[in-house]
Amino acid sequence: MKSNTIAKIMEKLIAKSIFNPEEDGCWEWTGARTQNGFGYGTINLHYKKWATHRISWVIHNRKQIPKGMEVCHTCDNHACWRPDHLFIGTHKDNMQDMARKHPCDPNRAINKGEVRYVRLTDIKRRELLIKLELLEE
Ligand SMILES: [Zn+2]
Repeated sequence: MKSNTIAKIMEKLIAKSIFNPEEDGCWEWTGARTQNGFGYGTINLHYKKWATHRISWVIHNRKQIPKGMEVCHTCDNHACWRPDHLFIGTHKDNMQDMARKHPCDPNRAINKGEVRYVRLTDIKRRELLIKLELLEE
């Protein structure tokens, strides 16, 4: 992917997300979600629908998702696309991981809980892009 394409995607992601200001807080997509019970965020790019956590993993790791593997969440917030909350696993890993965290209801709706989220200002957005090494300082 070209770096200006990546920067555009990231800007789209950041513009439509809310950010938990805690140090390791989630970056949560507020746009469209999949309707399959998982509630993954989706974003349209070049007439194709992408899962936000998958595109984020690809951009951050600068490689394709290995065949047959899934991008899983350590935070269990399926709308989250923060790169360090994502890890690669098999479908089985993903299902086991979810079942371990929520033995009763692996398809439960995302619970925003009491977490406080904020939208980023233009300045903060810029800072984040620089931090992600997508913009020059
Ligand atoms: Zn998260």
